Amino acid sequence: MTDIDTITELPDGWKRVKVPLPFSLKWVNSYIVPEGTSYTIIDPGLRTEQSERVWEEALQACGIGWEQIARIVLTHQHPDHYGLAGTIQEKSGAPVLMTERSHRYARRLWGGSSEYAEALSALFLSHGMPGELMQSIALNLESFVEKVSPQPGVTYIEAGGQLTLGKRDWLLIDAPGHAYGALCLYDQTKRWMICGDQVLPQITPNVSVVPGEEADPLADFLESLAHLEQYDVELALPGHRDPFAGFRKRIAELQSFHQRRLSEMRNRLARQPLTAFELCENLFGARLRDNPHNLRFAMAETLAHLFHLKNRGLVSSRSKSGVFLYDSESPGAG
Ligand SMILES: [Zn+2]
Repeated sequence: MTDIDTITELPDGWKRVKVPLPFSLKWVNSYIVPEGTSYTIIDPGLRTEQSERVWEEALQACGIGWEQIARIVLTHQHPDHYGLAGTIQEKSGAPVLMTERSHRYARRLWGGSSEYAEALSALFLSHGMPGELMQSIALNLESFVEKVSPQPGVTYIEAGGQLTLGKRDWLLIDAPGHAYGALCLYDQTKRWMICGDQVLPQITPNVSVVPGEEADPLADFLESLAHLEQYDVELALPGHRDPFAGFRKRIAELQSFHQRRLSEMRNRLARQPLTAFELCENLFGARLRDNPHNLRFAMAETLAHLFHLKNRGLVSSRSKSGVFLYDSESPGAG
């Protein structure tokens, strides 16, 4: 039986399905949107035996047949959102809608080439990551291929356009920084925002340096928050945790979190020069050595802050025996 907590009723017949994840985020939010006699699914989740079972049970509980799924919409390409898209497409025959840039990223990471893993390894090693930890990260990365397979055939939608969803017109908003190619969807009649992972309650969305993408993702993320802040939002539908009100307040909290983190890094580097890996352990704790998944996010996020500081001329770096050492002449404020 489906856990009583798995399906939440939202206004207008929308449903939120908590699709389980085998890591600390616990679940991803999928949304079922009624379209008359058919349904759109937003972000179906990661492909695992458990998540496939949850979908079987959830659709049964809602009285929805696979053939009634007319469309699958993806806010972004991360495996916990994208992973089941191909499987549900196989069962339903539904088109999968995402941006071309998101799709390019998915093919690059899970399309059978080792180019991305090698580039990530070179990046992390040149920033002080010990080789044996990099190996466990590479293995963890590889383990995601089966969690996103089969990969879907994709129909492109793009930021700046509109999408009709649940008989309402939604603006497709470019939302870079957490994932390039990501979209937020905004409906101005009811003032709902489907956020993906760009704005999350309680959790700070990860902002990572990703080889082959833009060099200063934190600048893009902060710019995106400043843009999203302009929308009047009554109900935000995030990719994790629960739907929430107070969208602007949450954006302000995320902005001040990053400013604090940037200051803290400058303070630490003003005391002594450090590699990105040392700074990462300094900030997140050495316990992450046992969790390659979280270590990858922590390291890539540390790099995102460092690259942002360096871009703004607030820290400097030099290479010492092939490893970058970061230094700050002046501490950050606060
Ligand atoms: Zn994500």
